[in-house]
Amino acid sequence: MFRTKTCGELRLSDAGQEVTLAGWVQRIRKMGGMTFLDLRDRYGVTQIVFEESDNHDLNEAANHLGREYVVQVKGKVAERASKNSNLPTGDIEIIASDLKVLNPSEVPPFTIEDNTDGGDELRMKYRYLDIRRNPVRRNLELRHRMTMEVRRYLDSKGFLEIETPMLVGSTPEGARDFVVPSRMNQGQFYALPQSPQTLKQLLMVGGIDRYFQIVKCFRDEDLRADRQPEFTQIDCEMSYIEQDDIINLFEGMAKHLFKEIRGVEFDKPFLRMSWADAMRLYGSDKPDMRFGMEFVELMDTMKGHGFPVFDSAEYIGGICAKGAAHYTRKQLDQLTDFVKRSQIGAKGLVYARVGEDGTVKSSVDKFYDQAALQELRKKMGAEPGDLILIMSGDDAMKTRKQLCELRLEMGRQLGLRDKDKFACLWVVDFPMFEWSDEEQRLMAMHHPFTHPKDEDIPLLDTDPAAVRADAYDMVINGVEVGGGSIRIHNSNLQAKMFEILGFTPEKAQEQFGFLMNAFKYGAPPHGGLAYGLDRWVSLFAGLDSIRDCIAFPKNNSGRDVMLDAPAPLDQKQLDELALAVVEKK
Ligand code: ASP
Repeated sequence: MFRTKTCGELRLSDAGQEVTLAGWVQRIRKMGGMTFLDLRDRYGVTQIVFEESDNHDLNEAANHLGREYVVQVKGKVAERASKNSNLPTGDIEIIASDLKVLNPSEVPPFTIEDNTDGGDELRMKYRYLDIRRNPVRRNLELRHRMTMEVRRYLDSKGFLEIETPMLVGSTPEGARDFVVPSRMNQGQFYALPQSPQTLKQLLMVGGIDRYFQIVKCFRDEDLRADRQPEFTQIDCEMSYIEQDDIINLFEGMAKHLFKEIRGVEFDKPFLRMSWADAMRLYGSDKPDMRFGMEFVELMDTMKGHGFPVFDSAEYIGGICAKGAAHYTRKQLDQLTDFVKRSQIGAKGLVYARVGEDGTVKSSVDKFYDQAALQELRKKMGAEPGDLILIMSGDDAMKTRKQLCELRLEMGRQLGLRDKDKFACLWVVDFPMFEWSDEEQRLMAMHHPFTHPKDEDIPLLDTDPAAVRADAYDMVINGVEVGGGSIRIHNSNLQAKMFEILGFTPEKAQEQFGFLMNAFKYGAPPHGGLAYGLDRWVSLFAGLDSIRDCIAFPKNNSGRDVMLDAPAPLDQKQLDELALAVVEKK
């Protein structure tokens, strides 16, 4: 046998056994007449001892090993004199009787340790070495366990896992597509799916009333920490259901994952909040509910005191940071700088500290007497020792978003965003449309297949911007981990939706005729949801970036630095595809 044991499994009870191990050289140390080798594989590290007095040649060979050499070792398990309680195998060592170098290694470009000296790009370039490190491997193990649990849960609920094609047609709504030229149909292009949305709906028309797929999706968007050009969704669709059925079933799945993977149990249903409330109270459609600090609207309280900034504002809102009155002038200046940063773009920040005796001192004392400040304190529900932070602006939505950033920052500074605490929330009743300045038209907020709320359907003709949708997102700790909707299953309503979105009937037919035609043949009422697998794994692993739970991720410019992709094609390939590359000036 190549190996009889792994490097992670031997214990004191195995002492005396003859074993064969194989793995990578983690470390070599010479001490007196002995050489110690830490041998590593996926399962752990085992100490191997080469004793000079026993076998000079063997000891010599061990001394010539380098880091990351692949070796096979035979020997006898023995109790260690000095035990290492940090290591599961720390009670034993192997007294080597044979050593075979299976493959030497060059010196790795960074240390294969839990805390490595390698930077992001280097680790991505040599990702296969990075994967040897415990933290990366553990994330992949976690990901595997999660997908196993997803399959187990959905299978138990009667879902069928069905694959949909990766080469599909380009769709104009949504993000930009990655396209693939067709050699056999020159001048024509496939697109990689942004999601299997329409295909899973067609499966519903096909009578598959519970579908899921753990599926790669592709979106050519600008990248951020929680985005990759290709990412994985747990994509689901069901027929003959209502919004509550979907929410309940997938809340069940979330709870199942929490319990099996993190050992966390929730005894209550997840909170549900309308999109309008989420925006009003937190300035975000994905509020972090690990802490409160809700917005309090202060238009009546703060206007009319002669402070020009507030008097001319369209929105004034405050948050109360519990116990933060001790913030120094310097810390408050830093907060002001924070909200003024270009990404946030606020003009400034007003603060008011509630002293231990209940008096309020603010940065705008000039305009507000103590009675007015006590009014403010009452409105904010602030107690002695609290800090009130106020922002204002001439665009309510924009100002709320800025206040949202401040709330998150305060939550962070006050230690309220603990990675081991989970706050789950459904945001429901999203608006059907949002206005796009760039396109100068209404766009679907979720996607064009989303069903408007029945009671809002009449508004489609009179006030489409006010129409709400049967759409829902699941948010955990301020991260949107999934979302979905009830779908339109009536071809006339679908046609109307395209019309509102600015499609001519011809264009709608050309792009989505396949769907509208299918709806003419008895499409059942249906709806679904997709969870973002990468985001779930990073949440459970406590990662800051989804990159760390993907085996071979892309960097922030969308490059695979290991494969060096994307790359130019050679002329022969271009010719076959009838493509020419035009240099941009
Ligand atoms: N296809 C949607 C998305 O990718 C999810 C859904 O509506 O099921 O966001």
